Amino acid sequence: MTQPFSHVAIIGLGLLGSSIAHAVRAHLPQASLSGWDSDAQVRARARELALADAIPDVAADAVRGAELVIFCVPVGAMAQAAAAVAPGLADGVLISDVGSSKRTVANALEAALPGRTIIPAHPVAGTEHSGPDAGFASLFHGRWCIVTPPEGCDAALLARLIAFWEALGARVEVMDADHHDLVLAVTSHLPHLIAYTIVGTASDLEEVTRSEVIKYSAGGFRDFTRIAASDPIMWRDVFLSNRDAVLEMLQRFTEDLTELQKAIRKGDGDALFDHFVRTRAIRRSIIEEGQDDARPDFGRKHNGD
Ligand code: NAP
Repeated sequence: MTQPFSHVAIIGLGLLGSSIAHAVRAHLPQASLSGWDSDAQVRARARELALADAIPDVAADAVRGAELVIFCVPVGAMAQAAAAVAPGLADGVLISDVGSSKRTVANALEAALPGRTIIPAHPVAGTEHSGPDAGFASLFHGRWCIVTPPEGCDAALLARLIAFWEALGARVEVMDADHHDLVLAVTSHLPHLIAYTIVGTASDLEEVTRSEVIKYSAGGFRDFTRIAASDPIMWRDVFLSNRDAVLEMLQRFTEDLTELQKAIRKGDGDALFDHFVRTRAIRRSIIEEGQDDARPDFGRKHNGD
């Protein structure tokens, strides 16, 4: 495999940053890797884990000579991280990121790094864990990475960024940033909001004890708790940065929920049944696409397994 970039700098060494580092080592071993994180403890841990060849204390030093700089910080911290590295950026460097929302991140990076080539991206892959110990090389295998180039962007650099993500095992889709934000509002941001709500509601119920909630969680609740355990800073920033699309999807969701509420109240079994048949088909498509585990209960081990 030819190296799409000979030197990659990763800014933010948490789950996404450390996963990219492991994946570059595994799939693009000839590439030089440098990294930086604003948290000195994260930098120290990243050095212990040998996540990159160089993890200097000064942000600008981490990007000197890099051909690709990827920001892997919470979306609300993109501008600050970009300003920190700006003095060290080489001519011709490609700036990218992995933020979960794209329009506000693109705007923030453009404002912080005027005149630079910026091609945002979002690998749709993650876990509920964070920090430099959470990363692993196969995080992007078979997952989609959505690249949102600005109009008229350099085609050769776009091709190299796509080649980079494909080398890490991802499938790449090119999309407009606003469309990305709408799609992700319904496939990721709204489900997280619902999970945060349900888990909060259950823990606030006075007539159901906490131990009962935990004991009987296999009834569906525990699958929401995994999502609701996601990083609070990351998700606060996602909702603030993708506000319009999330509010639009939330409005539609509320209307659909009211329809189901009406069907339950009226005893309209046919409406409920038709709805559930439709949603089951979506689950089947996700499994056929290889985006989840087809085994019962997501392949969890049970007594006797
Ligand atoms: P994470 O594990 O919390 O890592 C983020 C790291 O960035 C932390 O070490 C954090 O340090 C550091 N940081 C914060 N502000 C910084 C700054 N101004 N300059 C440099 N470093 C800074 O989070 P993550 O899950 O990797 O998420 C990173 C990005 O990936 C986010 O934009 C998120 O939207 C996106 N993303 C996440 C997922 C997912 O499932 N987690 C999936 C796809 C995309 P401190 O912890 O000390 O603040």
